[in-house]
Amino acid sequence: DVLIRMEDVYKYHYTESMQTAALNGIDLEIKHGEFVSIMGPSGSGKSTLLNVIGMIDKMDDGLYQFEDYQINGLSQKDRASIRKGNMGFIFQSFNLIDELTTFENVELPLLYLKISKAERKERVEKALESLEMMHRKDHYPQQLSGGQQQRVAIARAIVVRPKLILADEPTGNLDSKNSEAVMNIIKELHAAGSSIVMVTHSHKDAAYAERTIQLFDGNILENESNLKAI
Ligand code: ADP
Ligand code: ADP
Repeated sequence: DVLIRMEDVYKYHYTESMQTAALNGIDLEIKHGEFVSIMGPSGSGKSTLLNVIGMIDKMDDGLYQFEDYQINGLSQKDRASIRKGNMGFIFQSFNLIDELTTFENVELPLLYLKISKAERKERVEKALESLEMMHRKDHYPQQLSGGQQQRVAIARAIVVRPKLILADEPTGNLDSKNSEAVMNIIKELHAAGSSIVMVTHSHKDAAYAERTIQLFDGNILENESNLKAI
C-alpha cells in the first residue's frame, strides 16, 4: 500500500553561475502509515527532499507518485491542491502568523479548503483540545511559549486530517522537555494512522521513527529499519 514512490529524482538549485544537485537521483518508497525520519549533514538535501515530497519545490527530473497522482508534470496549481487536501507541515520555527490568534492560525488551512464555518469551528476546537491548547485560543503567537507555539502549529497541521505529516526539525527550537512532549504528540499521530516524514538532526527524535533515511550529497546513503537497529 504505497503512499509515495520516487524514482531517480533530481532537484537542482542555481545561484549565480553555480548549479547544485540538491537531490541527485533519489529512489524512495514510503507506505501508508509509515513513520520515516531523514537524517544527514547540513547541505545533504534533507529540506529539499521534504519540500519536493510536500510539493512546495518542483523536481527537475525523475518520477514522483503520491497515491494515484503522478506529480511530475502537474502544474503548480494542481500540486498545491493535492498538497492542501492531503498534507500537513510542521516547521522548526513554527511559522505561525503573528497577526492571527491561535484559533485563526489553526483555521487557516480549512479556509483554503472552503469548509463551512460551523465545521471549521468544530474541527479547530477538536484539534486544539487534543493538543491541550483550547485555553489559549484567543492568544497571539507572541503571547505563547515556544512549546505552546509548536502545539498550535501541530494543531494547524492536523486540522485538515492529512494523510501525510511533514516535519522539518520540529524540535529544533525547543528545550528538551518540550522536545519530548512534541515527539510524543507526533508518536500519537502516527499511532492514530498518520504517515509521517520528519527531518531531524537529533538521534533521539529519529528513534521515534520506524525507519531512518541517511542522506549525503543528495543521495540516500542508508535506509535502515530502526526496529532492527535497536
Ligand atoms: P539540508 O536540509 O540537508 O541542510 P538543503 O536541502 O537545505 O540541505 O540543501 C541542499 C543543497 O542545496 C545545499 O548545497 C544547499 O546549499 C543548496 N540549496 C538549498 N536550497 C537552495 C536555494 N534555495 N538556492 C540555492 N541553493 C540551495
Ligand atoms: P536546514 O537547517 O533546514 O537545512 P538551511 O539553513 O540549510 O536549513 O536552509 C534553510 C532554507 O534556506 C532552505 O529551505 C533553502 O530553501 C534555503 N537555502 C539553503 N541553502 C541555500 C543557498 N545556498 N542559497 C539560497 N538558499 C538556500
